[in-house]
Amino acid sequence: MEVNNTMMQYFEWYLPGDSTLWKKVASEAIKLSNMGINYIWLPPAYKGASGTNDTGYGVYDLYDLGEFDQKGTIPTKYGTKDEYINAINVLRQNNIKVLADIVLNHKMGADEAEEVMAVQDDENDRTKSVAEPRMIRAWTKYTFPGRGDTYSSFKWNWRHFHGIDWDDITATNAIYRFYGKEWNDGVDKEKGNFDYLMGADIDLNNYDVVQELKKWGEWYLNTARFDGFRLDAVKHIRCEFYDEWLKYLREKTGKELFTVGEYWTTNVGTMKEYLEKTHYQMSLFDVPLHFNFYRASLSNGEFDMSQILEGTLVKEIPDKAVTFVDNHDTEPGQALESWIPDWFKGHAYSIILLRNEGMPCVFYGDYYGIEDKSVTPKNEILHTLLKVRKYYAYGEQVDYFNDPNVIGFCRKGDYDHPNSGLAVVMTDSTGGNIQMNMGKDLANTVFYDCTGNVAETVYVDHEGNGIFYCKDGSVSVWIKQGENIN
Ligand code: CA
Repeated sequence: MEVNNTMMQYFEWYLPGDSTLWKKVASEAIKLSNMGINYIWLPPAYKGASGTNDTGYGVYDLYDLGEFDQKGTIPTKYGTKDEYINAINVLRQNNIKVLADIVLNHKMGADEAEEVMAVQDDENDRTKSVAEPRMIRAWTKYTFPGRGDTYSSFKWNWRHFHGIDWDDITATNAIYRFYGKEWNDGVDKEKGNFDYLMGADIDLNNYDVVQELKKWGEWYLNTARFDGFRLDAVKHIRCEFYDEWLKYLREKTGKELFTVGEYWTTNVGTMKEYLEKTHYQMSLFDVPLHFNFYRASLSNGEFDMSQILEGTLVKEIPDKAVTFVDNHDTEPGQALESWIPDWFKGHAYSIILLRNEGMPCVFYGDYYGIEDKSVTPKNEILHTLLKVRKYYAYGEQVDYFNDPNVIGFCRKGDYDHPNSGLAVVMTDSTGGNIQMNMGKDLANTVFYDCTGNVAETVYVDHEGNGIFYCKDGSVSVWIKQGENIN
């Protein structure tokens, strides 16, 4: 029987550096599977520059999955290599596919510095240099003394990078491009050229680097045996690189390798262009949808709810959209902070979980809460909505996006999923109702609001019409009475 795919991002930024996440996700596997989660995105698993305090995005050694004594620790922030591989096995045994988070834009925490000629570029327009070339001292030598030549004897030096943001001679922070190198084309045009993001920017035009990263990709897939990728910071990486890299690994392994990229932009046109250039080999996170949710949640009821899907990837290219509400970068205190407040979480999750289009991704920080920021868990409403997705979110979908305040949609159910079908009504302002037609198969039935927001029931008449409603500033999710989702 067809099931709805559902992803979960299994980490948030402020998890303690106690190396327990791989054990935790393994212990939760059965529960997550029962909830309908069948894809899990795990955080970067290799050793970061800050050891157990590194979320994994400060990549030091791609071959150290918590196995070597480097950066003051054997395990990473999330655990050891054995625990990681075990977690992947347990998840897969429970019908959950695992996505590995890949950070190939930059490296951090070099073992040695070296002198290199560099040009300083304008921070806000990297197509312009602002000083004559001069010698800087850059942290670009990666020799991996703790690992040696195990798995790979490749050692990195400045020739494998484009530039860096720190000169050790003058102790100055700036955008330094190594002399004779150019930032790559095929990256986002913000700041003139957004190849450089942070750390030592990897030169993904360098033949030796590309060969090494292909070799590493094969090694990683064969070692950890996961199912696909989440690609970090793709707008800072020449688009041809992942186009080639993914094609290579799919051919080598014969695996589907479902992949989702992080292209952080609110411009859906830019995302469509990127998808085309990479030949639709990956999906992208629907960042514009996240920002529609964000604006709606902060507009004091003034947002035009009928426009909630306008300019989003899930509307434009639904098959390539991974929809989400929040993630580790949008959390309070993070660089891309745009956290959706509690009152709107149910609205946003109803849209991503109960509609037909897009693959939704549930955020760890929403499900378990964020202790460090006093964010309370939303596990109750998420349990409800995930169950509704798993059992009832099937069949034809009809939208009622006709009002700036109260919008809704229904799913008419299908024969494969007994008693399926649902009606969603929500508002960012005062409550209201919408008459929806649920179809003949759901005629003469009674519906109730499984969120508990509304206590009364709704009768669906002999023609399949029901008048569904929601209260002020809330969302109601109506399913057939008698269906117990707890
Ligand atoms: Ca780059």
